[in-house]
Amino acid sequence: MSNPAGRHFLQIPGPSNVPDRVLRAMDMPTMDHRGPEFAQLTRDVLDGMKQVFKTAADVVIFPASGTGAWEAALVNTLSPGDGVLMFETGQFATLWKGIATDLGLKVDFVEGDWRHGVDPDAVAARLAADSEGQIKAVMVVHNETSTGVTSRIAEIRNAIDSCGHPALFMVDTISSLGSIDYRHDEWQVDVTVGGSQKGLMLPPGLSFNAISAKALAATETSTLPCSYWNWQAMIKSNQTGYFPYTPATNLLYALRESLKMLLDEQGLDSVFARHQRHAEATRRAVRAWGLEILCQNPDEYSGSLTAILLPDGHDADQLRQLILERYNMSLGTGLGKVQGRVFRIGHLGDFNDLMLAGTLSGVEMGLIGAGIPFHKGGINAALDYLADNP
Ligand SMILES: *Cc1c(COP(=O)(O)O)cnc(C)c1O
Repeated sequence: MSNPAGRHFLQIPGPSNVPDRVLRAMDMPTMDHRGPEFAQLTRDVLDGMKQVFKTAADVVIFPASGTGAWEAALVNTLSPGDGVLMFETGQFATLWKGIATDLGLKVDFVEGDWRHGVDPDAVAARLAADSEGQIKAVMVVHNETSTGVTSRIAEIRNAIDSCGHPALFMVDTISSLGSIDYRHDEWQVDVTVGGSQKGLMLPPGLSFNAISAKALAATETSTLPCSYWNWQAMIKSNQTGYFPYTPATNLLYALRESLKMLLDEQGLDSVFARHQRHAEATRRAVRAWGLEILCQNPDEYSGSLTAILLPDGHDADQLRQLILERYNMSLGTGLGKVQGRVFRIGHLGDFNDLMLAGTLSGVEMGLIGAGIPFHKGGINAALDYLADNP
């Protein structure tokens, strides 16, 4: 595989494929980030990101991976010893919980089986029992990238409201933003966390917070140490078109281009529909293969990725290795508790029918090569669905 012909198939659920025109948009001289042209770039990308988050509130952009925006959400709003309510939907919820713990927050981490999203009734039950108001924030991962399960944010919002609980509501949309419908304002989310390298079709390196007025007000009383991630300083600079420190200029060129594609050319609704359609075709292939989808609740199937369980006694990482070596395709590994048990097909970002056909073909050939028991016909089931639902 020293010099394989053709393109690599990058079908992990992020980083996702970067469109050629986004790569071209980055391939430009870095400009003066204090100069006059830069202010327009700042305004363009902030305006576009507000449309993607579906918010009229403040959005900030950090030169950081998604993990930075996770931390920013907490250090701007909370204080040492504050209680936060979280749910073990999978590896990413577990990692975010780790940050909260490191920062000195008291995390009530509700156990989960990695096959379901956050149960809105469980949210209501925990909040109703919190008569002393210990819980300062409810933190949920919208699309759990380790399992392919999408939690129902609108229903969780209703659950919080049903108790009249004042906790801040924070949602990680790193693998759903720009792929799965999401509404920061309508669902009254206080802090939404986003990242560049998944549905936004960019390389890694940018992350985002959308910030409600209530979350912004919480900065006044929050006492966790906060400097690089300080929203107030960022928002103040952004109002003039600039950043408090050097932004990731070329990634912002890329963001402006991808926003043009998502908002002006394709339209978010058609982007979401495309993701749902590819996800459904993928699930039809998995069922025809006789394999099991990790997500157990059809209302929570992810549009971004599908995690697939292998029969007992078969190692998903060996399958992935064989597919990489023979077919030059990367699939997502099983993370954390499901390592070796599942592999993940990313069908998000810059992706079309024939890329899905190629991806599923590589999986089916890999299943043959690895000697995993399955039924043929998965590809045809997917192609029939795509052809019948153009
Ligand atoms: C990828 C991902 C992250 C982590 O982002 P990094 O950019 O690796 O820091 C967090 N949450 C979710 C849901 C993700 O998919």
